[in-house]
Amino acid sequence: MLYDDAEKWSREEIEKAQIERLRRSLQQAAASRFYGALFREHGVNPDAVRGLDDVRRLPFTTKKDLREAYPDGLLAMPHADMVRMHVSSGTTGAPTVIYHTKNDLDWWASLMARCMHMVGIRPTDVFQNMSGYGLFTGGLGIHYGAERLGCLTIPAGAGNTKRQIKLITDFNVTAVHIIPSYALHLANVLRDMGVDPASLPIRFALVGAEPYTEAARRRLEEMFDMKVYNSYGLSEMNGPGVAFECTEQHGMHLWEDAYIAEIVDPETGEPVPEGELGELVMTTLGREGMPVIRYRTRDLTRFLPGPCPCGRVHRRIDRIAGRCDDMIIIKGVNIYPMQVEAILMAMPEVGQNYLIELDRVGVMDQITIKVEVKEEFFVEDMRALTGLQKRITSRLRDEILVTPRVELVEAKSLPQGEGKAKRVVDKRGTDS
Ligand code: ADP
Ligand code: ZN
Repeated sequence: MLYDDAEKWSREEIEKAQIERLRRSLQQAAASRFYGALFREHGVNPDAVRGLDDVRRLPFTTKKDLREAYPDGLLAMPHADMVRMHVSSGTTGAPTVIYHTKNDLDWWASLMARCMHMVGIRPTDVFQNMSGYGLFTGGLGIHYGAERLGCLTIPAGAGNTKRQIKLITDFNVTAVHIIPSYALHLANVLRDMGVDPASLPIRFALVGAEPYTEAARRRLEEMFDMKVYNSYGLSEMNGPGVAFECTEQHGMHLWEDAYIAEIVDPETGEPVPEGELGELVMTTLGREGMPVIRYRTRDLTRFLPGPCPCGRVHRRIDRIAGRCDDMIIIKGVNIYPMQVEAILMAMPEVGQNYLIELDRVGVMDQITIKVEVKEEFFVEDMRALTGLQKRITSRLRDEILVTPRVELVEAKSLPQGEGKAKRVVDKRGTDS
């Protein structure tokens, strides 16, 4: 059963709509100060756009552009028509602001509702949103989607874990939105309270906003006895509701009636061969207040080849491998935090949290990985722990090709915030 018409469009229908909507988006964008100047500089004429190949000739928009245009250089309609603004979390630097008109919010809510409906959430479900509200789009963005779908929606917000648990049990919550690091933390708190996470009524979890691995998903699904669906979005493209897993749990359908997606080589900006990893670039097709054209997301992913068994034609992107900015270069080797997570989360002795620390000792870079060990394993004798440490070290070395120092620490001892997890602490350069 499909939520709306566009969900079942064929490739021809998608492409036809994309061209028309792209032209409209460009016309709209040209009214903004930023794109007005950019289009003049690059000789972009929205009316001359004939086919989707023309997208590649349009200039990129970067996070730096959005920062420089702060606060309203990308506004394409009068300020008075705007009804909401969000700013991105600022994970990688100064935040950027995104405005929405009433129509924009309407469009966003329906995209989000489509995602939730796709995995089987229905108006009879009770939905608890456990992510921060306020400027972060995971709050209101998901909230209005759940309401649009018709769920009783509990705006729990982030943190206050005991209250979250009380709400879940008192109101028989069957669907939640939660970020991965907080979900793992929630499981710890439940266990401390003597509650088996699997005994909660939750059946569906929308999990996203930060990278996590397949191993972490399986862990969550087993612990809570629920289905975890990967949810991808970014403030610049509204927020959640951009790409979402179907029940196949194999890649996220990126809604192509709403966005044009490309994957490019982050160095050259040229398209990567089909199916290869690169930077996701996106263009909004449905936003009137502040269209964004060919936005360099800095997120690394690939298009999954072939049709999805679910029958939806909207192209699937793979789980986000990380951000271009997340790449650690140590001893000349490139490492992504998710490579480390994939190894750790697959080991049953490893707890829910880890931290990567980079140091410079003399002229040598050093990588230390602090790993929480589950309580039941931490009480083992020294020999067993040393054995575990060696196993972790050797598996990590095989994956990341440098030998890390592995420090085993007690469960729940590493810092745990309410927002996006900070996986890497780089102390290099701070001592010089
Ligand atoms: P910020 O870029 O400051 O964190 P946002 O709150 O807009 O601001 O977050 C969007 C970013 O979050 C994305 O660009 C991506 O890096 C990350 N993200 C969102 N959803 C996912 C997901 N499902 N998997 C991995 N990363 C995600
Ligand atoms: Zn599918």
